[in-house]
Amino acid sequence: MNLFDTHTHLNDKPFINDIDNVVNKCLDNGIKKMVVVGFDISSSLRAIDLAYRFPNIIYAAVGIHPTECNGINEEDLNRLANMLDEPCVVALGEIGLDYHWDTTTPKLQKEIFIKQIKLAKQKKKPIIIHNREATKDTYDILKKEDISSIGGIMHSYSSSVEMASEFIKLNMMISISGVVTFKNNHKTKEVVKKIDLDHLLIETDCPYLTPEPYRGKTNYPNYTYYVAKEIANQKNIAIDEVINTTYSNACKLFKIE
Ligand SMILES: [Zn+2]
Repeated sequence: MNLFDTHTHLNDKPFINDIDNVVNKCLDNGIKKMVVVGFDISSSLRAIDLAYRFPNIIYAAVGIHPTECNGINEEDLNRLANMLDEPCVVALGEIGLDYHWDTTTPKLQKEIFIKQIKLAKQKKKPIIIHNREATKDTYDILKKEDISSIGGIMHSYSSSVEMASEFIKLNMMISISGVVTFKNNHKTKEVVKKIDLDHLLIETDCPYLTPEPYRGKTNYPNYTYYVAKEIANQKNIAIDEVINTTYSNACKLFKIE
């Protein structure tokens, strides 16, 4: 198997002190590559550290998550710019809008989001988008900022089939997480059924969003297998086709190999 988990937080607390065991377990269970995604400055630096420690297995993404925007200044953005010059940093993210939590204002979220998009364009790196309850504003900003030259990922996609097609027109990939395995999630099952495999990626977002049959427990990158399995079920195709195509989609987007 060659699974590519395009969105993990191995830089987060549940994993950081047990990292060798976690990575070995991934390798034993068919994970070939994964992207460790930053959500603030220090987690982004930890992502880079992990990429250096596990070359050609772990790659890093660096960025400021919308709920972490308070107090972000020009110096922080300069630090991100420097991180983006590291060869192991394959994307800028996760960035975007999150209207579920009100710890940061939509106005500030948009400002930091747009600044990071401009930085990604300058550094020619794809972007990883976090969108929670903000699909219209997220779409409008991506369209206005004309991101098609860099492209990127709609991470843990949860919006409609119709919007997925619109994001694809902007050169975005649709990344499917473990929530697709939840019995009542008809919306995401519909997305994977209708959207062509060439536009899909798989991810865990671990330690969050654990798929069935492990729902309620800690999530691990090797559980991308269950995401691939559900996509194969919905599309009525072989799981190997899902695993191989999403793997090469990810390598192409991140310019790996
Ligand atoms: Zn995430």
